[in-house]
Amino acid sequence: MIAENRVIAVEEHFAPESFFEIAHALEVSPDDRAEMDLMRTVEQSEPMRSQLVDLDARIAEMDSVGVDLAVLSLNPPGVQPYQPAAAVALARTFNDSLFEIVHRRPDRFGGLGTVAPQDPDAAAEEVERIMGSLGLNGIMINSHTNGHYLDDPQFAPLLAAAEERSAPLYLHPRVPSVLGPYLEYGMSGAIWGYQAEAGLHAMRLILSGTLDRYPGLTIVLGHLGEGIPFWLKRIDNRHAFAHRVAGAATAMPKLELTPSEYFRRNFVLTTSGIDDTNVLDLGLRAVGDDNVMFAIDAPYENAASATAFLREAPVTDAQRASISHLTAERVFRLD
Ligand code: MN
Repeated sequence: MIAENRVIAVEEHFAPESFFEIAHALEVSPDDRAEMDLMRTVEQSEPMRSQLVDLDARIAEMDSVGVDLAVLSLNPPGVQPYQPAAAVALARTFNDSLFEIVHRRPDRFGGLGTVAPQDPDAAAEEVERIMGSLGLNGIMINSHTNGHYLDDPQFAPLLAAAEERSAPLYLHPRVPSVLGPYLEYGMSGAIWGYQAEAGLHAMRLILSGTLDRYPGLTIVLGHLGEGIPFWLKRIDNRHAFAHRVAGAATAMPKLELTPSEYFRRNFVLTTSGIDDTNVLDLGLRAVGDDNVMFAIDAPYENAASATAFLREAPVTDAQRASISHLTAERVFRLD
């Protein structure tokens, strides 16, 4: 008989009440206003507010659906919309709170720290603290920061620190940096804009050669890869075509590997928000059986249906054990 799998969920958002009190009083830039008006409305409404703040209720829900451990992260887009000095201070305060929560209940919670890419040197120092004295499990970055992406050379200190400290970098979506056609019909959020934005960000890391400069980085993508597994064969095909036909005229830098080889080497996917067998199969093929992890995306997704999918998906026992806990234990060092 096979022992029941330990269940670890790795994209589980929350925020301390004190975080909202500080963050909601901060000014946001005009470019981020539409997103932040929406997020603050969500964060101030019930039951979302309670679900984000109340970790006793979170544990009760974990018990009811059979989740052993939740890897917590700050509610998106975290500190990234704020002025650098305020964002750096807010990240440190949040990470101290997260440390206390994980320290109090290491049996139920892990944690991904937050950084402010607005100040890359401070973000690098915070990665040191997150992975060092705070003993957390990685970092979450909510895609672009003021329209800038992590392939931008200004973020070199942050990426170097993440690679040096083996900090897995969970690249979480936020509303796209170019809003134009996403603004109508409510398209900027998780129905389409989120995956377009996070997928774009991951593709920039691959096609820019950033992963040749930081070959040891581990990038975690939610939502079973933000669409990339669907496109992966075409991406390889078009990348080869561009170099073969356009030669020096293509804007694509020459890379050491094919795009799909970076995807398999540097990326780990999570099942957050996608209870779909066909997409799970694409994800497993893209990164391998040992690089897909279970996630709910609490409190935005239904915990009971996510765990039911984990139990019932038509995968082998070995695949289910990897998805349920083995990969998360390796990637986030949760043993
Ligand atoms: Mn999420």
